[in-house]
Parts: sequence; structure tokens; C-alpha cells
Amino acid sequence: MTRALPSIVHLDADAFFVAVEQTLNPDLRGKKVAVGGRERGIIASASYEARACGVYTPMPTSQALRICPDLILISNNHGRYSEYSRKLFDLCENITPLVERRSIDEGFMDVGPCGFSNEKELTDTIRGLQEQITHELGLSVSFGLATNKLLAAIGSKRNKPHGFTVVPVGDEASYLAQLPINVITGVGKKTEVLLKSNGIVLVGDILTQSESSLKALLGNGWREMVSLARGEDDSVVATGHEDAKSYSQQETFIKDITDFAEIARIAKGMLDELMAKVRADGKRARTLTIKVRYPGMDNDTAGRSLPEATDLEADFYSLVEPLLKSAWRQRRPLRLVSVRLSGIEGQTSQLELFNDTDEKNERKRRLASVVDVLNSRKNTVVRHGHQIRKNHG
Ligand SMILES: [Mg+2]
Repeated sequence: MTRALPSIVHLDADAFFVAVEQTLNPDLRGKKVAVGGRERGIIASASYEARACGVYTPMPTSQALRICPDLILISNNHGRYSEYSRKLFDLCENITPLVERRSIDEGFMDVGPCGFSNEKELTDTIRGLQEQITHELGLSVSFGLATNKLLAAIGSKRNKPHGFTVVPVGDEASYLAQLPINVITGVGKKTEVLLKSNGIVLVGDILTQSESSLKALLGNGWREMVSLARGEDDSVVATGHEDAKSYSQQETFIKDITDFAEIARIAKGMLDELMAKVRADGKRARTLTIKVRYPGMDNDTAGRSLPEATDLEADFYSLVEPLLKSAWRQRRPLRLVSVRLSGIEGQTSQLELFNDTDEKNERKRRLASVVDVLNSRKNTVVRHGHQIRKNHG
């Protein structure tokens, strides 16, 4: 079986404000430069040369000038930073429309729908983007590629500046286990000190603790910490066009089950029902996430987005089995499976009504709404083929 590919890319520009200043004025390259307010201000961005001198962000400017007297201080030039930020993300959108601009210099790309056939094709494309950004904008950007946003963001921070980190699919837990605990979001200085004084130094150390000792250390936050330490995150790359709503459904099995075909059939059935609700609300969905739960209550998830939102379950059918395969990492019996549709958007835009594929889709849509109407009538249930339970004899 070929290995699944990372579908989420996190990008983070290196010393962004300073880098823009250096692009606008190449004389500043290779020097101790910082952007910040002079009077009682703070340092917002520092070149790597300035960092080597002890300057960091956010540090009071007065302190920075004291420890690094030859620091070249530049005041904020916000208009230009926004302009370069726009250009940076526009280049990302040449690769996928699913780009989340998280902040002025940091964002996520969902490359799942791009259909890369192997890892080399994917990494060549993203490395190409990294070089294009450097070449066209004069900016250095670090990238992290992984199965989800949490791991991609951890990856991009590992080898700055100009880093390129791939967290191999399937090796998430072992990758994370060897990193220091402060890579986990929410582990601030105080928590870090507390954990370290209890012998928890690496992310993997969290997972060797008993539930009761984690509870004693972290209070109610312990569950969240365990799930982060496992690298779990099923949040989707949000382009800003969608609303926060999602549709989900789950089924708990009376007896733990191991039959892949059976679970896939159940998942498709839930997808059909969810999509009927999405249609009834006049919405469309872009992302399908499948979660599995083992008897020990631990979960694994996998999600993927289509290039465009849809209100047709058929558009998601081909994702169900691959997602189930990658979510069901530990081939142990399952207690529960859940299906979630997110990336919810309003109805089809006028523009798309003129697409070539529209006539075919329109027929599918009409058929789907006929099924919805029939299903809403008492005593009538119309089922897709996979909803009919096979006789196991
Ligand atoms: Mg940055």
C-alpha cells in the first residue's frame, strides 16, 4: 500500500517585518536590524543577526538598544507589510484555493484536493513555492507539511529560518514524542516549569503518565493535553468564506467491530443523512472528517477537503474509504465511528451556474432532492445501494 501524503501545509515567514524592510532596502541585509517603536515601544521583529546579539520579540526597545547598541531600528511600515502579506498568500493560492491567512505572516494551505500522486511531487511543489517567494518577494519562509494543522505548525517552527519539515504520515506520534513539551500550544512558561519539575520534559513523557497524576498536575486541561500530545487535531483550513457550523453524526456499536466494509457502509449512510440536512439548510460542505474510537476511548481522525463545497453526497463517496483507512490507524476493534461535514458555505454562487459540469450536477441534485422529499414522507425510506445491509448469512 502506498503511504498517505501530508495534506496540510503551514507556512511562517521568517522575521517578516525586517525581511520586508530588507527587500525594500537591500543595504539592510545581513545586519542587526529590528522593527519597533522607539519611545517606550517594543521590538516587533528582529533579524537573525540582531537575535544573535540577544534581541528578541517582544522586548522593550530601550532594552534592545542597551544590549545591542549598533542595532538599526526601523519604525513600523504597516502598509508595506500588508502588501507583501497579500502577495505571499496570493502565490500560495496558485497551488490550492484552500488557504487560511492566519495572521499577516502565517497561514495554512490544504493541499489534499490537489491530487499529488506521490510525496516527491508534493514536496517539489511546496519547495518550488518556497523558492518562488524568495525569488519574487525577497522573503524567507519556513514550511511544515503534515496530516493536520497542529503538526504542520509544529513542523514549520522546527528548522527556522527557511525550514522545510515533513512529518511523515503514520509517524506523527513518534515524531512528536521526541520534541520538548513547549512545542505544544498552551504550554506556557509556567506549565513548562511545572511539568519539568515532575519529570515531564518531552512530549512523549506526557503519554507515559497515569491519568490521575496528569489530573493532579493539569486539572481539567489534562484531556486536552493528552490529545495534543498525541498530535490530534481535526480543525479544517478555513478560507474565511465558510461559516463555523458543521454537521456531524456518530454511531456507537453495541459490539466492537472490525469489518472494514461494514464500517464504510455505515459511514456512507451517515454521510447521506448529513448531506440531506445540509441541502435542507440550503448549504454546501467542503470537508469530510471521519473519526474512529477504540474501546479505550481514544480516537483517531482523518479529514479531507474538496476543492469546492458541494451539496451532493456522491462528491464525497470516493473519500470515505481512504479516510476510514487512514483514520483507523491502530487496527483494533472499533467502538464508534463518526462523520462530520464542515467548511459549510452558502448555496451555489451565480458564477458556478455556468460551469460545464453543471448540467450533470443539476441532474444529481434533482435526484438527491427527490430522495430527500420521499424520505421526509412517513413510511417511505429511499436508500442508496450502500445503505442496504448485506446479508452475512
Ligand atoms: Mg513569522
